[in-house]
Amino acid sequence: MKAEVIAIGDELTTGQRLDTNSQWISRELAILGIPTGFHTTISDSLDDGVAAFRLAIERADIVIASGGLGPTADDLTRDVLSLVAHEPLELSAEALVAVEAMFARRAAPMPESNRRQALFPRTSRIIPNPTGTAPGIDIMIPRQPDSAQAASGPTAATSAGVGQGGEAICRVFALPGVPSEMKLMWQESVRPTLHSLLPDAATIMFRRIKCFGAGESAVEAMLPDMISRGRDPLVGITAHEATITLRIVARGRDEAACLAKIAPTEATIRECLGGLVYGVEEDEIEDAAVAALVAGSATLATVEIATQGQVAAMFAQAQARRTAPVLCGGVVLAAIEGGQTLAELAESVRSQFSATHGLAIGPVLSDSGTETVEILLLGPKGRQAAVHRLGGAGTLRLSRAAKTAIDLVRKSVD
Ligand code: AMP
Ligand code: MG
Repeated sequence: MKAEVIAIGDELTTGQRLDTNSQWISRELAILGIPTGFHTTISDSLDDGVAAFRLAIERADIVIASGGLGPTADDLTRDVLSLVAHEPLELSAEALVAVEAMFARRAAPMPESNRRQALFPRTSRIIPNPTGTAPGIDIMIPRQPDSAQAASGPTAATSAGVGQGGEAICRVFALPGVPSEMKLMWQESVRPTLHSLLPDAATIMFRRIKCFGAGESAVEAMLPDMISRGRDPLVGITAHEATITLRIVARGRDEAACLAKIAPTEATIRECLGGLVYGVEEDEIEDAAVAALVAGSATLATVEIATQGQVAAMFAQAQARRTAPVLCGGVVLAAIEGGQTLAELAESVRSQFSATHGLAIGPVLSDSGTETVEILLLGPKGRQAAVHRLGGAGTLRLSRAAKTAIDLVRKSVD
């Protein structure tokens, strides 16, 4: 089974708005195990819409579209589907009731133009929209007989569905463009429908393992054969602001079967990556450092030059999330004055704020084109030092340095 994702709207094709819906939908499809062959983005034009949907129907088994279901003249998705399916639009009493009810809840009169949102191609099914006025459209559209085998082959045709005349069909789900409405409708209606269409309907579970301290390719190299396409469970790798996430996706007949698949893969990842793994799921590196401070009955004071207070801010946010008061105070300096060393700075904040540990992050040092930042952590058992080489662009450059300092705390206080 193969999918195509279509995003509709002039705001997308003119570059005024980023198409985040397609990214989100494709991720969701991947989770279900349905590969996406194409992303198509089209303007609010009837001709372009018809051309794009015709092509999608020939080459995909499932089409997920977002946008163009509003009440205005430029919202043409329903007209496009009517033309492509060769089915007239008919007023759906069920959809009209839903649209009217939404206006009643808002205590607003319904403009006549909103009646358009109750027009549906004759054989289509309505996808309820619990939070907006535009219901979605779920419709099966037959492929042209001579092209039924052209796209994904005969097996795809049977898995997507076969019409009463034996012809291959493509299932189209058209959703509104507003991301929050689209996501809710996906979760409540589209995903369960797709799940029931899958030949081996299964439970899907995830586990995210979070790492810090090595680049994406280095992490991948430490995990031989783990990140390969056909693996079961599947392991994906993504990098975001120097944090590497390994996502294990397991499919099984029930939750227990999925967990049984995830456990050995997670164990292997942890074994191969050792101390690079700092947490799971939503954990950030600062959450792990706060947990380490709590575990070591330690507290922290910081003094920062290069990182401009980012380290203290990240600790403050993490300790609020975890209701674990470990940061006693933080100082931000413009430069080192009076020839003080980093160790003296760390000692001075440690005693000023009565913390067990003092963390100092020095200024940016430049040496023949290489920029570095020195980091020093002072605690009852001695000192830990690190030199961070600045890399990356813009805000990423300093946030990486801040995370390196936080990681030093995580590794050193437990
Ligand atoms: P529409 O359903 O076409 O009326 O879209 C409603 C609003 O949803 C638009 O004005 C955009 O702000 C937003 N939107 C539509 N399509 C997308 C998309 N692909 N990604 C992100 N936002 C979108
Ligand atoms: Mg639009």
